[in-house]
Amino acid sequence: MQNLVNLRYPFSLPELNFSYESLEPYMDAKTVDIHYNKHHLGYVKKLNDSIKEFPELHNKTLEELLLNVEKLPEELQEIVLHQGGGHVNHNLFWSVLKPAPMSEPTGELAMAIKNDFKSFENFRTEFTQAVEAVFASGWVALFADPNLKGKLSIKTLKNHESIYSVRGPGNYTMKVILICDVWEHSYYLNYQNRRNDYVAAFWNLVNWQQVESLFNNSRNTFSNF
Ligand code: MN
Repeated sequence: MQNLVNLRYPFSLPELNFSYESLEPYMDAKTVDIHYNKHHLGYVKKLNDSIKEFPELHNKTLEELLLNVEKLPEELQEIVLHQGGGHVNHNLFWSVLKPAPMSEPTGELAMAIKNDFKSFENFRTEFTQAVEAVFASGWVALFADPNLKGKLSIKTLKNHESIYSVRGPGNYTMKVILICDVWEHSYYLNYQNRRNDYVAAFWNLVNWQQVESLFNNSRNTFSNF
């Protein structure tokens, strides 16, 4: 995946680690194709178009832009929040999907999930309930608290609120390690209104190795944002 902390203008689609059809039957090829080449690319294009005229912003990372959005020219603020949030969230989303992954996490991540959610099954139930509870469009993500040894919590992001918008108790940025897209465009062709079937299918595609690597990295960085 593209390094999430280093996304800069001109923004571009990340390379996928899988072919469109390789996530079937859980996510159909047409949905992945449209999701990536139409929806995600749309966010990238609108973000680039809006920043093009502001060369002083071209050396800023997307993380810097999103964390300091109130300092941007007023006409850019909403665009960066929506299109920029959409871009970074989708980058992460594609990176945590994989055909035929391990069915559950191992190692330190498995222990942390057991510690913070009692069991893997219980974690999955809580995350699933959060997905089912999203009103309209949004994301559900799992965050690790870098200042509490990676303590895990499930958060809902509305619309394209970005993965950088979740703060710990001291107002530092929490580290995201897993995310599920709960916009209808990510499941409607195959599942229509059956969001519960979509999230059940999502569990068959989670790249736990990638999630574990994000978890391990989150604990190596003390965050003071
Ligand atoms: Mn999406």
